[in-house]
Amino acid sequence: MTVQECISYVESHMEVRYATQNGAYRAGRTISNHQGCVNHSVGCAQPKADVFFNSMNKTSAQWGVNAILGDFHTGEGRILVTLDLKARPWGCGAGSKGSWNNTKIQWEVCEPAGHTYAGGTMIAYDVEKNQAYFDRMWKMLVAWNVYCSVKLGYPVSGISDHAESYRAGYGSNHSDMVQWLPKHGKSMDALRTEVQAILENKEDDDMLTYEQWKEYMTKYRQELQDNDCGDWSKEAREWSIRVGLFAGNGTTDDGQPNMMWQDQLSREQAAQLFYRFAKNAGLA
Ligand SMILES: [Zn+2]
Repeated sequence: MTVQECISYVESHMEVRYATQNGAYRAGRTISNHQGCVNHSVGCAQPKADVFFNSMNKTSAQWGVNAILGDFHTGEGRILVTLDLKARPWGCGAGSKGSWNNTKIQWEVCEPAGHTYAGGTMIAYDVEKNQAYFDRMWKMLVAWNVYCSVKLGYPVSGISDHAESYRAGYGSNHSDMVQWLPKHGKSMDALRTEVQAILENKEDDDMLTYEQWKEYMTKYRQELQDNDCGDWSKEAREWSIRVGLFAGNGTTDDGQPNMMWQDQLSREQAAQLFYRFAKNAGLA
């Protein structure tokens, strides 16, 4: 996907439904300069985004994230935007150095049905049965990570998960999302790599390489010069075509004969030109 395709994909699966009862919403605090994001997964076998919205949208809820990605069991999935993207979430808790709640946007990703947990480890998770769910989730997760990094302007290196927030000293001790991603051969590094590749492609789409630019400018200058003539020479040019002294060479992009009016004339071409003129006049 390109950056634009990611943005379109996200926007066509996104619903803004703020959890107005939630404490993080009601606190009204914002993050002014985002350093990244924290990806979470919910830590239980519940694919429905609405279930988490309802539990988050209570004054008693002790957590609150900016978005919930879910419903990958019934289709392509969807994104509920539950707090403003700039709102400070109650997501990863705090660690020894502080909390990424102060600097990073955060979301929860719903997990498929069927497994249980022992501590932070998934039990009886059926990889094969869940592959299609995971593929749809991963597509959305990549697109959403691209979307948020573009909208909020943080670097790909700022993309993290809850487990990384703990290891960095900025979150509580949880295992998500790497309790899940490696079961399908993915990782946080894979996520960052895919997001980075998409963001780099954007530049390829928008910008010409030096070779492309040179080719374009050469052609542009050529066309500008070729048929860009002053009125003073109009009569002479029309006559020279009419009597067969000059002919065009192909056509320009807008379908006009390419007359190369501003090209240099070589001695060889000059000889041929005088010869044609002399012949027309019965002198040769
Ligand atoms: Zn988490």
